[in-house]
Amino acid sequence: MALRFEVLGRFNRARAANLTLPHFLCQTPLFMPVGTQGTIKGLTTNQLEEIGCQIILGNTYHLALRPTSELIDELGGLHKFMNWPRALLTDSGGFQMVSLLHLADITEKGVTFQSPVDGKPMLLTPEESIQIQNRIGADIIMALDDVVKTTITGPRIEEAMYRTLRWIDRCIAAHKRPNEQNLFGIVQGGLDPVLRDICVRGLVDRNLPGYAIGGLAGGEDKDSFWRVVAQCTAALPEDKPRYVMGVGYPLDIVVCSALGADMYDCVYPTRTARFGTALVTEGVLKLKHNVMADDTRPIDPTCACMVCKNYTRAYIHCLVTKDAMGSQLLSYHNLFYMMKLSRDLHSSIIEGRFPQFVCDFLRKMVVLYAFFSLCHIHHVISVVTGIFVYLRELSCWGQGMSGSMIVFVSIR
Ligand SMILES: [Zn+2]
Repeated sequence: MALRFEVLGRFNRARAANLTLPHFLCQTPLFMPVGTQGTIKGLTTNQLEEIGCQIILGNTYHLALRPTSELIDELGGLHKFMNWPRALLTDSGGFQMVSLLHLADITEKGVTFQSPVDGKPMLLTPEESIQIQNRIGADIIMALDDVVKTTITGPRIEEAMYRTLRWIDRCIAAHKRPNEQNLFGIVQGGLDPVLRDICVRGLVDRNLPGYAIGGLAGGEDKDSFWRVVAQCTAALPEDKPRYVMGVGYPLDIVVCSALGADMYDCVYPTRTARFGTALVTEGVLKLKHNVMADDTRPIDPTCACMVCKNYTRAYIHCLVTKDAMGSQLLSYHNLFYMMKLSRDLHSSIIEGRFPQFVCDFLRKMVVLYAFFSLCHIHHVISVVTGIFVYLRELSCWGQGMSGSMIVFVSIR
């Protein structure tokens, strides 16, 4: 095991911790921006340090294609190659194959796919995924799992969960650098509590350095999503980090942290920046909108980032989607927002003011969601249900409790 996880403070299920990795001492809860080819599009590693990023996620599939893991290894590992002194995490590569390539197929051996270079059939096995990640050299590496969408039902969910458990043993056996790299297992099982339970227990038996909750954020409703997170975090060990994969909406991060999760990753903050959207206290600000054309205020007057100190909405409106500078400035601001959110969660838990922080956060967010974003209306309904449940002073845990009830009982 090449990490130390020390819980510094708690509020009900939420916790704030120091996570010491080989390259950096991180503070949780934390958000990890996603880099593709060893870069966060448009930002230098100095800027990422300035923003306060602690861990960056590297995409194994993309790195293995170019420049290749062999070359990265030869050049001294990914930290050196991309000039990033802090922590790195690589995914298994399997998810990209399944989601990007139409011809990917999963068998007991591994993930078979058509090479995007020459069209030949190729196979990514659990052993190979770990070998590639050992060469890349990230602080945290992920097991190859059998991922299925949560919206799928039937025997395929069960098959994928048991295969994920069989593959973890192949990953552990193939891992050649356990003293320098931490292998995390991934809990699968769809929305089925029985399957999730079997998977959590199976992985915990393997005594891994950390655990991820996978297969979520794939189109399931919020209530089901929160219920699965609540179930898994309650069953995972107290003294190991818990990582909810693919989660990047600020509201989800706050809720999952209340439920006892520690780490998150998502392309959302940087992807939405490229489409001209900034994350602000009240939710989002669309810089493409014509009303921004002569607005001389910063993106967020309460934000202390370099972009908000130096540029107006009018200037960014003029650049956005036309010049790379526009998306760079917005990515900078959005990641600064995510890092501040992580720090606020950490300090509010430690200082015993987590409930106030969550209530203030929700009050500002919910107003915006309710008025501007129909697609988020189900969040609002779940949140309001939760508050209602709290007002009725429901404080016991029970079967049949919805995800939002669990969330709000946890927060209070
Ligand atoms: Zn800013």
